[in-house]
Amino acid sequence: MQLIDGRHVAAEIRREIYREVENIKARGKKVPHLVAVIVGHDGASETYVAHKDKACREVGFESTIIRLEDTITEAELLEEVDRLNRDGSVDGFIVQLPLPGHISESKVIEAIDPAKDVDGFHPVNIGRMVQGLPCFVPATPAGILELISRYKIPTEGRSCVVVGRSQIVGTPLSILMSRKAYPGNATVTLCHSRTPHIEKYTREADIVVLALGKPGFLTEDMVKEGAVVIDVGTTRVPSKETRSGFRLKGDADFDRVAPKCSYITPVPGGVGPMTIVSLLRNTLQAAKNR
Ligand code: NAP
Repeated sequence: MQLIDGRHVAAEIRREIYREVENIKARGKKVPHLVAVIVGHDGASETYVAHKDKACREVGFESTIIRLEDTITEAELLEEVDRLNRDGSVDGFIVQLPLPGHISESKVIEAIDPAKDVDGFHPVNIGRMVQGLPCFVPATPAGILELISRYKIPTEGRSCVVVGRSQIVGTPLSILMSRKAYPGNATVTLCHSRTPHIEKYTREADIVVLALGKPGFLTEDMVKEGAVVIDVGTTRVPSKETRSGFRLKGDADFDRVAPKCSYITPVPGGVGPMTIVSLLRNTLQAAKNR
């Protein structure tokens, strides 16, 4: 069994991006600029945006956080999006989700200029991804593909089961794994909460991707010998062993499943670190495109 070390790969990619930014600077060009818009005071969103800000600075990007109160109206937020679309100093921006209930997330996403949509959530980017055209791929699926390719895990002709069909992870990943490319060329089954007997599918799978948010969901009797398990799940569970009183747990029962696997991602330290690094890559690409 080989552990897929997301922290190591993410650090390697940050170094690669840093070197590219140094080259941009040496040529006297503007460094990439990422803006994150955060509405309200959701704890998880605050943490995530703070991590993005730190990661941007580490690779030499310019980073701006725009904080807006949750009393902002939808029209005001759409105006802010429009301003960022037109701001020539901004290469890419994200609007951190979830948004307060009185604001339509899809309206806001659709208002973002697809050329600056580094989260890859705009329907134009999703459509281009489905058609295999150049686009911004959502950060978590992009990070998973990167892990698969850096570890040279074969995917062609393999069976891949994705559990969870969210718009940010499961659905785009199922499309990417079935496209005619590497990583891809797999035969993909997308399972969700209405799939009866999920074990019937996972047991046959060469690659199992878990993105459902149910800690310990995948047990050792649900995977075959030699399977590749990519665990996206990150759920906070109470813990007596940490100072914070909680720890992150993945969707696989790691200790029991890992011995059967050829490769597996740990939680934390697997897919998680790849997500922000993929956002940085999209931002670098957006800057180059401009
Ligand atoms: P989500 O929006 O939370 O949706 C969960 C998906 O799992 C849904 O499609 C749901 O089915 C399915 N599901 C729920 N219970 C199930 C069950 N018992 N059996 C089969 N399917 C089930 O998905 P998400 O936003 O992708 O998040 C999933 C997990 O990944 C969470 O733990 C999240 O924290 C984590 N995550 C991690 C990263 C990272 O960077 N590491 C990034 C994103 C998400 P229905 O569609 O039928 O409801």
